[in-house]
Amino acid sequence: MADPTQFVYFFGGGQADGSTEMKNSLGGKGANLAEMTRIGVQVPAGFTIPTEVCNYFSDNDGAYPEGLKEQVVAALERVEEVMGARLGSDTNPLLVSCRSGARESMPGMMDTVLNIGLNEHSVQALAEHSGNAQFAWDSYRRFIQMFGDVVLEVRARDDEHEDPFEKLLEAKKASAGVKYDSELSAEDLQELVSEFKALVKQRTGQDFPDEPIDQIWAAIGAVFGSWNNDRAAVYRRDYGIPHNWGTACNVQAMVYGNLGDDCATGVGLTRDCSMGAPGFNGDYLINAQGEDVVAGIRTPKRIETSLKDEMPEVYEQLETIGKTLENHYQEVQDIEFTVQKGRVWLLQTRNAKRTGFAAVRIAVDLVHEGLITPEQALEKRRIPADDLNQLLQPVFDPQEKALAETDGRLLTKGINAGPGAASGHICLTAAEAERLHNLNPEQPLILVRRETSPEDLRGMRAAEGILTAFGGASSHAALVSRQMGKTCIVGANELNVDYTAGTVSVGDIVLKIGDPISIDGFTGEVFTGMVDTTESEIVNVLIKKTVAPEESEAYQRYAQLMEWVDQFRTLGVRTNADLPDQAVDAVAFGAEGIGLCRTEHMFVEHLEEIREMILARDPDTRLAAINRLLPFQQDEFTGLFRVMQGRPVTIRLLDPPLHEFLSERHLQEQPDLAEELAAQLGISVEAVRARTAELHEENPMLGHRGCRLGIVYPEITAMQARAIMQAAVAVQAEGIEVHPEVMVPLVGFQTEIDNQAAIVRETADAVFAETGTTIEYQIGTMIEVPRAALRSDEIAETAEFFSFGTNDLTQTCLGMSRDDYGGFIGYYRENDIVPFDPFQSIDLGGVGRLIELGVAGGRSTRSDLKIGICGEHGGDPASVMFCHRAGLNYVSCSPYRVPIARLAAAQEALASE
Ligand code: ADP
Ligand code: MG
Ligand code: MG
Repeated sequence: MADPTQFVYFFGGGQADGSTEMKNSLGGKGANLAEMTRIGVQVPAGFTIPTEVCNYFSDNDGAYPEGLKEQVVAALERVEEVMGARLGSDTNPLLVSCRSGARESMPGMMDTVLNIGLNEHSVQALAEHSGNAQFAWDSYRRFIQMFGDVVLEVRARDDEHEDPFEKLLEAKKASAGVKYDSELSAEDLQELVSEFKALVKQRTGQDFPDEPIDQIWAAIGAVFGSWNNDRAAVYRRDYGIPHNWGTACNVQAMVYGNLGDDCATGVGLTRDCSMGAPGFNGDYLINAQGEDVVAGIRTPKRIETSLKDEMPEVYEQLETIGKTLENHYQEVQDIEFTVQKGRVWLLQTRNAKRTGFAAVRIAVDLVHEGLITPEQALEKRRIPADDLNQLLQPVFDPQEKALAETDGRLLTKGINAGPGAASGHICLTAAEAERLHNLNPEQPLILVRRETSPEDLRGMRAAEGILTAFGGASSHAALVSRQMGKTCIVGANELNVDYTAGTVSVGDIVLKIGDPISIDGFTGEVFTGMVDTTESEIVNVLIKKTVAPEESEAYQRYAQLMEWVDQFRTLGVRTNADLPDQAVDAVAFGAEGIGLCRTEHMFVEHLEEIREMILARDPDTRLAAINRLLPFQQDEFTGLFRVMQGRPVTIRLLDPPLHEFLSERHLQEQPDLAEELAAQLGISVEAVRARTAELHEENPMLGHRGCRLGIVYPEITAMQARAIMQAAVAVQAEGIEVHPEVMVPLVGFQTEIDNQAAIVRETADAVFAETGTTIEYQIGTMIEVPRAALRSDEIAETAEFFSFGTNDLTQTCLGMSRDDYGGFIGYYRENDIVPFDPFQSIDLGGVGRLIELGVAGGRSTRSDLKIGICGEHGGDPASVMFCHRAGLNYVSCSPYRVPIARLAAAQEALASE
């Protein structure tokens, strides 16, 4: 806040105290209302009380800072002046809205109250002044309903299915024999007002407040209080928004979209935010007020299809405003507007939330339109790196879909609001979706609702896809699912969702809770039953090669974006791949090497040999068994070296404890196994059992694994080193460059890496002598126990590269087992004990600190030490960004995360420039 005693920032009549720059204080909504006022876009006058006041309010039991009251009163007078109306006036009453608005938009999470200032007197005045009694009483009933809900907390009780105000409204419409709210007469509405007031009295024991200024203060308090409501807190946790930001409160003169048929309310996007196509689009409702469009009460009309005909001048105004805003903000905008008697008023603008598809298209288009530079196109707020993932997700298999259609399984069509393909079991409530998801996360669910509201957030997250009967492309369901990257269809009007009966029906086709249903978020089609999926367009071009690059615009835009990415990125991106075909995919996604090849999966395919090795009583038998594995290992490495075409390949020596290959569980599951092994090895069944029992460990994560295996059984390391070197020699002989990097796992002592390095070098020398060739190779280590990070200077005397194994490093640093943290991590997250899951995103304060120590120590010994990371975190954007800052050379992640890691790396390179 510029001036710590200024608690009110006025906007109106072309002037504003605030601007977009002041988002932190004024919130996104307030800052942009000020900015729009400045650039000449028509905005009703008002003022913003900054977020700092919200924090003061939260910290001081709902008290306000000294001076606020006076400033609010003065600002209200200015609003009255600009609007030419007065609060509580008997002739021309001013009504205001009281609107929440945080630094980052949190759609629908906090509260807003409209039409403040009405009472039995001013409603009459409003009726006379406007010449429209129906409008005045409609505004009043809306006010009592919103104020009643938000401020007085008159809501559905646990034993009620429905909002008590809505119930009265429904009953009134039924008795009046009308379908829509807007068809109720002034008399109906007046009766409804009395019924609403009686409801408030009955539930709260108090009369509904009449004094406008009291109403305003109560609403301001509720807005500030709403920062701390449960759903807002959940949302903040999910989107990493700090709890101490607070919300601003905007008090703003009302404009009326419910004054008649030359009035409307709407929301719009300056471009499509589902797939990204250019062109103004959105939803509007004639003769309605704000919330109606978003809440999905009536299905709104589409701006791009019918507004041009219904209100041509309004359409033109909107297009012009859209252009003005895009040029000014250099970003696609999401706006809220009201049309009062043919004139457009802007009530909000913000950078639009968009799907990954739209994000890529819009960013590339804006560059081509000359509005932004490639550097700007890559900004993290424009394309969150994770959202690229959506472009790689499966879509419905066109053949399966056609089949479903000919089978008569096409149930209905709605508005395609969130691209993707989702099949799952029907759930009708968010709570049920959440419960079922927690019981079995593997079971896909489709949340089917009439409409969604902010309370449904958790259930929406639990579901694979969302389908609603009402609402348009800007409804709550559409907005939230776009942001979550969920497949979503809204406004499927034919759908009859009966919560009480637990059914979803179209005509006489009736589906029950739990029945399978499929939704195509690209087309809006809904099918009964499951529909098989197939690869996305980008994957078809890049990986399957079933579509030519020049045939796919989506691919071309992706390729353009990734070209920019590689231009700015300095961090390398490798992949974790064990098999040649995985490596091929990863290279197509842009991987520059293999950062982690786990050798154990090859062992799993040769259990017979490895069990023989485990059960061997003497070194010779063991050696013989191990050497039977050699050709298999060599084959796999040969394949990898071939497809990697000279790119570095990091191969980790055997890591898991031996009981993963032979344990009491194996013997129990396969009753004949002990006898078979005994016969095969010529030993007794008891010996097999005894050796198996010996292998049991209480804490396998901390047991006999990693380099501890290769140290106690040097034959294993020698065999693996031989397989690597012989494969390298063979592939090099084919004229293909090879760069093997042998990685020793779980080192803590320098002596451990020394021991293993000696074996590898000795073996390599032997192979080179036998074949008369040499190979350039490196020996390095994984840093995955704290001791290795602490003694990294010593370890780097032997190790030629480091790779942070952040899965184990997180386990060992936090003393938290990934296999056992499920029992408490949910509670930790919900109660803000930890800000995020440390196995998904690097715990910067602890694990990150160890990484920094490891980098500093290692490079103090070997200034050019190559350092990477190969844990699961390598594909997490925040972790990738950290790795860039920590000075790592590369990250390594699973093939499908490679594009995401590349983008995140470029974003951090640009951000830290
Ligand atoms: P949210 O953050 O949930 O979108 P808003 O504060 O934006 O809440 O209010 C929701 C809607 O209420 C707006 O989109 C707008 O249509 C309507 N509204 C808010 N203030 C006014 C106003 N002063 N005049 C007319 N409509 C308003
Ligand atoms: Mg809004
Ligand atoms: Mg490990």
